[in-house]
Amino acid sequence: MMRFNLDNKNSIMTEQTAGWRCMVALHLEDLRHCMEFLAIAYGAGSLYQIGLRRDGAEFPIGLRIRTMKYNDPGNYEFCALLRDITDQKNSERRLFYLEKARAEISLNSIRDAVIGTDITGRIDYLNRAAENMTGWSRNEALGRPVSDVVQIINRVTRKRDLNSIEIVLQSNTHSVASTDTVLIRRDGSEVTIEDSAAPLRDENKQLTGAVMVLHDISAARTMTMKMAHLTQHDFLTNLPNRLLLNDRITQAIIHAERRDTQLVVLFLDLDNFKHINDSLGHAIGDKLLQSVAQRLCACMRISDTISRQGGDEFVILLTEENQPIDATRIAEKILSNLSVPHAIDQHMLHVTTSIGISTYPDDAKNAETLIKNADTAMYYAKEKGRNSYQYFKSDMNVRAVERQAIESSLRLALERNELILYYQPKVNLKSGKITGAEALIRWQHPDRGLLLPNRFVPVAEECGLIIQIGRWVLREACVQNRKWFLAGLHPGSIAVNISALEFRRMDFVEEVGTILKDSDLPPESLQLEITESVLMRDAESSIMVLQQLKNMGVQLAVDDFGTGYSSLSYLHQFPIDVLKIDQSFVQDIVTDQDNGVIVSAVIAMGNSLKQQVVAEGVEQKNQLSFLQGQHCEEGQGYLFSRPICAEQFALLLKTGINCI
Ligand code: C2E
Ligand code: MG
Ligand code: MG
Repeated sequence: MMRFNLDNKNSIMTEQTAGWRCMVALHLEDLRHCMEFLAIAYGAGSLYQIGLRRDGAEFPIGLRIRTMKYNDPGNYEFCALLRDITDQKNSERRLFYLEKARAEISLNSIRDAVIGTDITGRIDYLNRAAENMTGWSRNEALGRPVSDVVQIINRVTRKRDLNSIEIVLQSNTHSVASTDTVLIRRDGSEVTIEDSAAPLRDENKQLTGAVMVLHDISAARTMTMKMAHLTQHDFLTNLPNRLLLNDRITQAIIHAERRDTQLVVLFLDLDNFKHINDSLGHAIGDKLLQSVAQRLCACMRISDTISRQGGDEFVILLTEENQPIDATRIAEKILSNLSVPHAIDQHMLHVTTSIGISTYPDDAKNAETLIKNADTAMYYAKEKGRNSYQYFKSDMNVRAVERQAIESSLRLALERNELILYYQPKVNLKSGKITGAEALIRWQHPDRGLLLPNRFVPVAEECGLIIQIGRWVLREACVQNRKWFLAGLHPGSIAVNISALEFRRMDFVEEVGTILKDSDLPPESLQLEITESVLMRDAESSIMVLQQLKNMGVQLAVDDFGTGYSSLSYLHQFPIDVLKIDQSFVQDIVTDQDNGVIVSAVIAMGNSLKQQVVAEGVEQKNQLSFLQGQHCEEGQGYLFSRPICAEQFALLLKTGINCI
């Protein structure tokens, strides 16, 4: 406790009280302030002052003053409590620096740039991220106008913009984050940012400056753009996807309508891609699709849109530039470019394509129908024999519906026992004896009558049903052959057609073994017919499968020989027993000299390779004579017998064929 009298300002009387250190002197100036305050306050007060020790050292004091007496004006008596608050101040200062350091560390460790300015817009704070983002060091930036350091342009207009601190200092309110902003760094490079700022105010709410936060959104923007790209492009080939294509066609239609021009849509579907995927795996399939995409891009104009619809389907939009579109020429170019073998890993893959073509405004007036009609036309190209193109015609839609109907009723055909096998004899051309039969599938359709395989086998292959159907055919044929044998007939071998999808299945060989065992048929009584094009599609793996079947004792035949692109080097390596010359060669064997030569050459080659040669489609006597003259061993055709049901075939085995 210390008493002091205002009349004696220079000598303060002090009195020591427990717990309080006695102060010897106060700065006179401070004391004056203190008194002035008291004079105004007329009463109690608590002040922080600087104490001065006798030795001249300063220290902080806490001063609490109370009026003790108030006798007459000008004569005050006060009681003052003086406390040395050095410790308190020290810890407060420590805390302040600690907080400051903590804030500094935090601000330096965040990725966002933080820049502070005074009220004139001169920079008074810059964290580390701000140094990196702007390219200005703290030393160089401090004191500079913020507009020197944070130069902003609009991303879209590329015009100079105010930065958010400038906005805040002008408007005295918060500035909202803007995303269309690009920061020009000190070296001229650009960063896409999101910037926002807030005003700084003193305790009287007066503006003293502003602080700005710059958030680098280049990565987020790149990601957004990537996402946008992904939603419009196919991940595998990077071609525009269905969505973008629809958009492009719709735009192109608007232009074409205005300029009275044409548009052409080509719908491409790879032939037998499914088989490649199933037999060689998806990785190879994917690479093949990429290779196809590259070929397509290489043979089209930049202005054409090449898109992948998914799977092995591609759609191309052609727009008229300066002259009418020659869709025929383009379709032919695509067919020939794609049919060059694709080198994928160690495989040389042969793919062909079927193309459907539709035209705006003749075939459809909107994107969806244009694509749909081109798709329908593509199916016709497939039916026509693949590796070809077809223009859309309006009556195609009716048949497309029919095709769909076949697919759905085919699913039930197996369960309902609507499938049956017919048998066509193979005949020795010297002796006229039946050497075996080819099993040929028929569908006894409840509404449509007896359907031939060309009406439903391609559909079954497309939708994968051929696996179950093929399994059924194989079992049925083996069982039937065994039955004939047990009935004392001599049916010879039974030939079964195997489609690509079956042949490429991992468990195919095993399945053949099981069926042979179940039907108790000796393996040499079964002949598997695989078309030349299926064997050649992946010759290396074909050799492996054929070898496994061969080891089992099964006979192997190349069906429709002459229609694929056999390379003779492979033909030597295929462990083949039989070559079946395609009926197209046999048909005009006598009239067309070229075909005659080809058939003679195949027979000679087969004989030299110790392969049995069977001529398919023998219908006329003169064809038979020609074949006999060329020492063709066997024949098959209407001349001997049409394909017939099992009962009729049994009769034929008994009676024999007498046309030789
Ligand atoms: P393919 O294996 O080449 O069978 C020969 C085709 O020629 C049969 O047609 C047969 O009826 C026909 N043909 C036989 N002799 C003559 C003739 O003298 N003149 C004419 N113009 N044609 C003759 P089909 O039965 O319509 O079978 C067509 C194709 O369907 C077969 O050709 C085969 O590739 C396929 N196919 C038949 N059955 C099956 C089967 O069970 N599974 C599989 N995957 N395909 C089958
Ligand atoms: Mg056949
Ligand atoms: Mg054939």
